[in-house]
Amino acid sequence: MTAPRLEVRLDLIERNTRTLVDRLAPKGIAVHAVTKAALGSPAVARAFIAGGAAGLADSRAANGERLRAARIRSPILSIRSPMVSEADRIVRTFETSANTEHDVITALSAAASAHGWSHGVLLMVELGDLREGILPRDVEVVARHALSLPSIELRGIGSNLACRSGVIPDDANMAELSDLATSLERSLGVALPVVSGGNSANLTWALATGDTGRINHLRLGEALLLGCEPLERRPVDGLSTDAFSLVAEVIESKVKPVQPWGELAQTAFGERPRRGVGGNAIQTIVALGRQDVDAGDLTPPAGAVIVASSSDHLVLETDHLLRPGTELAFRPGYAALLRAMTSPFVVTVHVDAAGG
Ligand SMILES: *Cc1c(COP(=O)(O)O)cnc(C)c1O
Repeated sequence: MTAPRLEVRLDLIERNTRTLVDRLAPKGIAVHAVTKAALGSPAVARAFIAGGAAGLADSRAANGERLRAARIRSPILSIRSPMVSEADRIVRTFETSANTEHDVITALSAAASAHGWSHGVLLMVELGDLREGILPRDVEVVARHALSLPSIELRGIGSNLACRSGVIPDDANMAELSDLATSLERSLGVALPVVSGGNSANLTWALATGDTGRINHLRLGEALLLGCEPLERRPVDGLSTDAFSLVAEVIESKVKPVQPWGELAQTAFGERPRRGVGGNAIQTIVALGRQDVDAGDLTPPAGAVIVASSSDHLVLETDHLLRPGTELAFRPGYAALLRAMTSPFVVTVHVDAAGG
């Protein structure tokens, strides 16, 4: 088989989805499963849907188009504020998009009108993480603008935490979003059916809290794919962390000194290695590099430690010599998964429960 390859256990992704959908449903929370880390993979999307996700979500028009080309008909939410220049692509592919800007919503309305369609808008509210979002006191003005446009349906509000600044979703910021939904409904005189609390970082809160308030929607990617929560990257009880495995091939394995010799300057990536101490070690190189994966976000197999990476080489110390051609399997974290999925050098293969 070709290497490097990302082996995907669709059965585990489906099971993770089912587990979380079933745990969140009694709390009144529906799940849109986020395909962006899987490059809008139709196979992964089908596993999410089979696991009970109410819909899909992605941050890129191209990924949404890939899902539609594969005849996936589930609702898809666009979770990055659209570019004005892509308004037409967005309304063609996504029923609803997350938005923060007056002019973008105007462009979406014009694009939808040209087709005789309407397009749903979810207004994102800034709750402190300082990525996208309208400050709470300004949401009403943007909501009034959305309501005034002929082809826009205001679906609700949402927030996104723990992405730029690591702000933890908790009872206080989720209650602020809930209260804002209720006060907007009162002042605008419309219902806001969707209150989307956030991403996988909201799971710990959602599963533990006694009061989810108005929060009735989450957009989950990492937890469904990797089985962990992104605040501390701990495995979530009952979820599998083994859905993805990055397989790479050994191209060299030799006993070598641990320390380089000669005068030292910068490495290929601008780092300055420090000379340490040490005798010899078994140094093994696999054909995998920064063009394929974020090497700092890989868990190596037992008996191997990652010591360095460059564009095309991952350098390990291993507890025994490995013949060239030997395959090693690494477990990717979120950053490594994203890079592997978007690298043209890494093939994705779907494997069944038996690994066949
Ligand atoms: C990426 C993203 C998500 C999904 O995040 P996960 O941590 O993978 O669950 C949800 N909402 C928005 C706005 C995002 O950008």
